Amino acid sequence: MNTKQLLNWYKENARDLPWRKTTDPYLIWVSEIILQQTRVVQGIDYYHKFIEKFPSLHKLAAANEQEVLKAWEGLGYYSRARNLHFTAKDLINNYQGKFPSDYIGLLRLKGIGPYTAAAIASFAFGQKVPAIDGNVMRFLSRYYGLENNIASSSEVKIFRQKAEKIIDPDNPGLFNQAMMEFGAMQCTPSSPDCGKCIFQQQCIAYQTGKVNQLPVKIKIQKIRSRHLHFFLIYCEGEFLIEKRTEKGIWKNLYQLPLIETNSKNLKEEEMKEFLRKYNLKTGKNAKKINSLTHLLSHQKLHINFWILNTCTSTGFFIEPKDIERYPFPIVIAKFLDNYFN
Ligand code: SF4
Repeated sequence: MNTKQLLNWYKENARDLPWRKTTDPYLIWVSEIILQQTRVVQGIDYYHKFIEKFPSLHKLAAANEQEVLKAWEGLGYYSRARNLHFTAKDLINNYQGKFPSDYIGLLRLKGIGPYTAAAIASFAFGQKVPAIDGNVMRFLSRYYGLENNIASSSEVKIFRQKAEKIIDPDNPGLFNQAMMEFGAMQCTPSSPDCGKCIFQQQCIAYQTGKVNQLPVKIKIQKIRSRHLHFFLIYCEGEFLIEKRTEKGIWKNLYQLPLIETNSKNLKEEEMKEFLRKYNLKTGKNAKKINSLTHLLSHQKLHINFWILNTCTSTGFFIEPKDIERYPFPIVIAKFLDNYFN
């Protein structure tokens, strides 16, 4: 591949994104973690908000987890925020507040995988390591006619080896940015504008009519269905919330008291157990007020919201005006917002 041609394309076509104007590893790290499961347009707002609240590694490390999760509310995949916070403290406590400047050292940090380590190492420290994300693999797959499965971790290394051979040793960071941008903006997942592509002549997929068949992506993924019943236990202008402490996607976020059932319906016995747990006299006036389905990457959540007007001495009650102070999964935050506003 003619990397000079690629870099020229990048200079003319790159989007003006805030994290591209810096070599500060902290800012690059935050932006990369935000962008892992988030579209760029949405990511920009979160990035600005996050950096404003936690402008440095020290500020992030000194924050409490609740503040970090609150800044992350709505982005999903909250383990990213928990890992950011953990690693910020780890860097302050064990690395003199500095990021390791090499790929292997970065990989040792929690929440930093091969792609993020390569991005930080090359953008911030000029290391010659290719950063391989979905955009890069799509572009490489089509350009070289590679039929390896991009969803298989053992086959991703084929793409890495290919990129290692072509990475520009003088500008590894710029090269990585250009590869990613080319995949995102030119060699797009569907209907790439091959007619205007600078690599049309060399691109094997284009030359052999395989653009729509590449890259190969075969995912074996089981979607788990779950049935969740959240109760708005409302007592004299306040309602009960609790912190999720068990492992899982919503760890350390807040929620309404919950009954999880195996099937759609809530059984009498399950309700009784719930009433016992929260020391409630009766659940007779419980009323279902909303039902919805919420999709996560590996789970389909069937969610029911109930209201129960009753008081109890058990649990932690807050006023609706204090909702803002607690991080909730977005589906609960939206429900509370609709209900109280
Ligand atoms: S010709 Fe089409 S498929 Fe090939 S690199 Fe260009 S945009 Fe991608």
